[in-house]
Amino acid sequence: MRTLFIAGNWKMNKTADEAVAFLSEIKDDLNAIEGIDIAVCPPALAIPAVSALLEGTKVGVGVQNMYFEESGAYTGELAPNMITPFCQYVILGHSERRQYFGETDEGVNKKINAALAHGLTPIVCCGESLEQNQSGETHAFVSSQIKGAFANMTGKEATKCVIAYEPIWAIGTGLTATVEQAGGIVGDTVRATVKEMFGDDVAQKVRIQYGGSVNEKNSAELMGHPEIDGALVGGASMKAAFVDLIKNAQ
Ligand code: PEP
Repeated sequence: MRTLFIAGNWKMNKTADEAVAFLSEIKDDLNAIEGIDIAVCPPALAIPAVSALLEGTKVGVGVQNMYFEESGAYTGELAPNMITPFCQYVILGHSERRQYFGETDEGVNKKINAALAHGLTPIVCCGESLEQNQSGETHAFVSSQIKGAFANMTGKEATKCVIAYEPIWAIGTGLTATVEQAGGIVGDTVRATVKEMFGDDVAQKVRIQYGGSVNEKNSAELMGHPEIDGALVGGASMKAAFVDLIKNAQ
């Protein structure tokens, strides 16, 4: 059985002080939730303070991006060993990074390998645009993203990753994929591609989240689908109702 995993992606929101103030309010409630893995992914500069605040709780910490090199002349980037003292997770290949910062499947592949080499759990994002969805290209596109991101990896490595299926048209728009749509793509495309690449045993172990306007009202239905193993949550993870979102998913 795959344990549900719900992670909050705060994107470029909250200073370190704001992050600590917000989490101080909800951390005991989050810590009391059983049977679900939970993480928050604040902006990088808030991470040391958030990590210290959450130490000893069940709430993990993730970073929203990472570079694959160990060190060097890469202005503005963070190396894996700068992250590992504070984080267990790293979000890789989020659609906003692909859209605004030119991330490619090839780069995501290098980052996944670097994250695993440093003991971080990658949350690997994939998902189609509205145009691709409407023109029936979802399966081919998402499958090609998975194949690119996990190219030349072993099944053992793939098992250590989490995948987040996030249709771009549902991110931050208030439009949520129906449970049938989301569960269908997660099962028939994402898990099916993992199976094609690494076999059924690996495919049954890999946790696949859904992301796209998940909130406290729809989390129960979405997480109730047998193929959906959790959520990557943007906007709703920065409100106190994040606790209800997770409780309802339970
Ligand atoms: C996200 O950023 O990964 C996301 C799913 O955002 P939202 O929940 O706000 O749609």
